[in-house]
Amino acid sequence: MIPYGRQNITDDDIEVVTKALRADFLTQGPTIHQFEVAFAEYVGAKYAVAVANGTAALHLCALALDVTEGQKVITTPITFAASANCVRYCGGEVVFADIDPDTYLLDIKAVRNLLASAPKGTYQGIVPVDFAGRAVDLEAFRTLADEYGLWIIEDACHAPGGYFNDSQVHLQRCGNGQFADLAIFSFHPVKHIACGEGGMITTNDASLYQKLLTLRTHGISRDTNGFQNSIAFAAGDEQATNYPGWYMEMQTLGYNYRLTDFQAALGISQLARADEGLTRRREIAQVYNAAFEGLSFIKGQSGVVEGHAYHLYVVEVENRLGLYTHLREQQIFAQVHYIPCHLMPYYRAQGWKEGDFPAAENYYRHCLSLPMYPTLTEAQQAFVIQTIIDFYHS
Ligand SMILES: *Cc1c(COP(=O)(O)O)cnc(C)c1O
Repeated sequence: MIPYGRQNITDDDIEVVTKALRADFLTQGPTIHQFEVAFAEYVGAKYAVAVANGTAALHLCALALDVTEGQKVITTPITFAASANCVRYCGGEVVFADIDPDTYLLDIKAVRNLLASAPKGTYQGIVPVDFAGRAVDLEAFRTLADEYGLWIIEDACHAPGGYFNDSQVHLQRCGNGQFADLAIFSFHPVKHIACGEGGMITTNDASLYQKLLTLRTHGISRDTNGFQNSIAFAAGDEQATNYPGWYMEMQTLGYNYRLTDFQAALGISQLARADEGLTRRREIAQVYNAAFEGLSFIKGQSGVVEGHAYHLYVVEVENRLGLYTHLREQQIFAQVHYIPCHLMPYYRAQGWKEGDFPAAENYYRHCLSLPMYPTLTEAQQAFVIQTIIDFYHS
């Protein structure tokens, strides 16, 4: 069986998890912080906050940016629903904008039109997605966002290790916090780095970082300097001069979105092999690109793209359903990413309908994600390619 994506767990990974299980802490011990430091360094951001999953990461970002009822946030319809849902968790309104038909990313022109067609202050933020692993040009989005006073959450779930070159030809890694206020990642098994479940938020903003740490653990603070109740109350003793050791304060409404120490141990071990995996993903992409070049029935995402992290290898094909079925008969499990978010019944109920985003909807009629993961062998990939070519030639 050949799936579209799968995790790569090695004996080393198993060993570090076993060690973590024998240590003093099972959750929120020292390994969490080690993972955060290593991950922040990997993407080139100042701060990282490990959380339970990518969806929790998005939720905490929306909370940290004070998304509330009545606010409007723009995102792409071609993404996993969580990119949009985080706005709804906080009572905000999701406004979709169409994709660029060549890159499949949120089309900055569509976003610019949307912003220009309403009074300033109508929209509060943008959630661009590094879809399939292709980095969004966040420099351009930052310029636009600044013009309208918007924040940016980069959904970088598909792109750890991905990058784009900015206008100064400086390499800008996904999640490095140069342009986006916050970025998020997922450690679901189909993503580059697997923790079972897990997520990470990265930022260069110290105050957002502090807010996220608190929100991750029930809104509870243990920072003596920030306590709001008096020492006398905390100690239950008028004579006390310090806050007692047990004392903590729930200052805002937070959640339990913690990652466990043994998941963090797995994350650290996986992160150490991330570049190796990325190299292999890029090799696989080159082989697909070369095999499909000049074939009229198949259109690749965008050819060879520097900095692409290739979480997915997406093609657009004629008779997508036929090909999908044919591949399944050969035990090749291609997948579709994504059913346009605005056409999910939940979002249709909010007024979105077919015809709203022609580029996204046309993409959905043709897209298919082919097997793409580091342990896909050359022979397996050759079989996938041959099976596709045979389908169109028969
Ligand atoms: C996987 C994914 C998420 C959610 O991550 P989970 O860890 O599964 O909650 C969010 N956005 C995108 C684009 C994703 O691919």
